[in-house]
Amino acid sequence: MVSRARTSTSARMSTSARIPVWEDALRQHGYRLTAPRQAVVEIVAESGRALNPTEIYDRARVAYPRLGLVTVYRTLEKLEELHLVQRVHRPDNCQAFIAGVEGHQHLLICQNCGRVQYFSGDQLEALIQRVEADTGYQVHDHWLQLFGKCGEC
Ligand SMILES: [Zn+2]
Repeated sequence: MVSRARTSTSARMSTSARIPVWEDALRQHGYRLTAPRQAVVEIVAESGRALNPTEIYDRARVAYPRLGLVTVYRTLEKLEELHLVQRVHRPDNCQAFIAGVEGHQHLLICQNCGRVQYFSGDQLEALIQRVEADTGYQVHDHWLQLFGKCGEC
């Protein structure tokens, strides 16, 4: 079965509304929210662009200059574990992270500025059925990222 979740209203949560929700989720999972961790959470929650750990580090250090890169990695790991962020692959081959949305969504990534947008809808059914028939695989899920240039670039 291919997941077919459609865009839900909760997926449209504004970026600033995300911060308290994420902080609650982290606390509920026993993660102590220190000032440096909080600085990382805020940067990732508020960004509409996929950021790699170094970019997050540079931005979060503005709010918390003594931040360490290890804290960035650990916080990202925890956010990923709680499905609050998604890992995306950028054309420059570096791992980047973006605030996730609920449900099954596909990603559009601007190769120029890194802006990320989600879109839903699956017209992949026919393709998946053909691939299954050709290969004997049973497809359970898929992960789609489209790269290009955003409307503002
Ligand atoms: Zn762009």
